[in-house]
Amino acid sequence: MLTTETRDRLIEAALAARQWAYVPYSSYAVGAALLTASGRIYEGMNIENAAYPMTICAERVAVFKAISEGERQFQAIAVVTSNGGSPCGACRQVLAEFGLDTVVLIADGEGHLVWETSVAELLPGAFTPSDLDK
Ligand SMILES: [Zn+2]
Repeated sequence: MLTTETRDRLIEAALAARQWAYVPYSSYAVGAALLTASGRIYEGMNIENAAYPMTICAERVAVFKAISEGERQFQAIAVVTSNGGSPCGACRQVLAEFGLDTVVLIADGEGHLVWETSVAELLPGAFTPSDLDK
């Protein structure tokens, strides 16, 4: 269970990260802030490309930054967009890899929490590492 302070801190971090979004094509800036089990926060923002499919979402930037630093367990991720948009399917799958219980905080451009959910709720029937034969 996240405290109000933790929620606010994560949303603030996502709002701050959003300013660095590189979105010359869509103008749809997204900021994310991922809280790991160790207590660190990794920020991400979406980065577009003239070759559109090369674009990467804010959530995956945050997750990949955390993974590259040795983190594997996440508590929560905050995602901020102008209109409170929710994570895309690709990001839901990437988050599911590291735990279905990760809390997902979705906030608007003013930092108002519009939906508090979880990876499990966002991706029912997720394909996870346990589905692979060891
Ligand atoms: Zn995405």
